[in-house]
Amino acid sequence: MTGDAMTDCLFCKIIAGDLPCHRVYLDENVLAFLDIGPVSSGHVLVIPNHHYETLSDLPDELSAAIGSVLPRLCRAVIESVGAKGLNVLQNNGACAGQVVNHAHFHLIPRIEDDGLGFRWRAGKYDNGEAERLCGKISNALANQ
Ligand code: 5GP
Ligand code: ZN
Repeated sequence: MTGDAMTDCLFCKIIAGDLPCHRVYLDENVLAFLDIGPVSSGHVLVIPNHHYETLSDLPDELSAAIGSVLPRLCRAVIESVGAKGLNVLQNNGACAGQVVNHAHFHLIPRIEDDGLGFRWRAGKYDNGEAERLCGKISNALANQ
């Protein structure tokens, strides 16, 4: 989490032009390019043009800049590959699957029965747990 370019960061090198990429979008805050190992054809990565490790580290303005371009990028990707849907995936931290420590959003186009998916095991809150959690998260937000 810095905002400064990091010399050992792959995505900072791509931003600096020291590593090539297949760029699909660039503005003063945001870069989007094809993932080198696409989960599906048209898999795009959207990154802030400054180095922050995770979504939690992003300043509001940078996060807003990404948010404002995401719908356009989604539409363009869906249209270009003829997808029927799209997942936005955003990994934070190694335990959540983040490998490149420069915040990024995955845009993954989907079609019916493409075999992709997420192991989603829905749980259930015990009595009172949801209320307790709700209070904790609301307090944490109020203290930021
Ligand atoms: P993560 O697991 O960190 O959420 O995802 C990192 C993504 O970056 C992976 O999907 C991987 O294929 C992609 N990636 C890693 N190195 C490069 C690279 O040099 N160029 C491009 N275009 N994508 C990369
Ligand atoms: Zn970086």
